[in-house]
Amino acid sequence: MPNSDPVTAWKALKEGNERFVAGKPEHPSQSIEHRARLAATQKPIAVVFGCADSRVAAEIIFDQGLGDMFVVRTAGHVTDSAVLGSVEYAVTVLNVPLVVVLGHDSCGAIQVTLTALDDGVVPGGYVRDVVERVTPSILSGRREGLTRVDEFETRHVTETATQLIARSTAIAERVTAGTLAIVGVTYQLADGRVTLRGYLGDIGEG
Ligand SMILES: [Zn+2]
Repeated sequence: MPNSDPVTAWKALKEGNERFVAGKPEHPSQSIEHRARLAATQKPIAVVFGCADSRVAAEIIFDQGLGDMFVVRTAGHVTDSAVLGSVEYAVTVLNVPLVVVLGHDSCGAIQVTLTALDDGVVPGGYVRDVVERVTPSILSGRREGLTRVDEFETRHVTETATQLIARSTAIAERVTAGTLAIVGVTYQLADGRVTLRGYLGDIGEG
């Protein structure tokens, strides 16, 4: 039994975000009974691969609960082999039909990378790793003539989605087969709204 399909999964997340924006969350899938039922198995409807920013809490902004979403978060939603492995696990073992790449406004990772490129000074430690993994999106955006921070934030979301498909055969095959869709969204901190920035596969839009 599939957990869901890309169209139904995207509709559920979109409606959850609308409830959150309106201040009318239902806090689904959080009862004691539901928690106990889930102990044996999980069938999440979506992977959310988002920025680790404390203000972009995935289950809260999509008004979902336990077992609903498989969440992977890193600063600036930067991708490495562990991220790809985590997403592949959700897609191939748990049969999740939707991957959502979640960026946001006022993203520290984007800002740090822009500053590093402008000043020519890369941060030390492992923050450097984050900057290096955001940099290709910024360079692509600059070649395309982007200048505003929000434009780079959106560009990094679509680039991240593209990279998931380019680097993971398992993900690409399922998108081609129509059993998986990838959606890129940005989240606005102040009003809580998620905006669709691009997608691959059929999610019932347009
Ligand atoms: Zn961020």
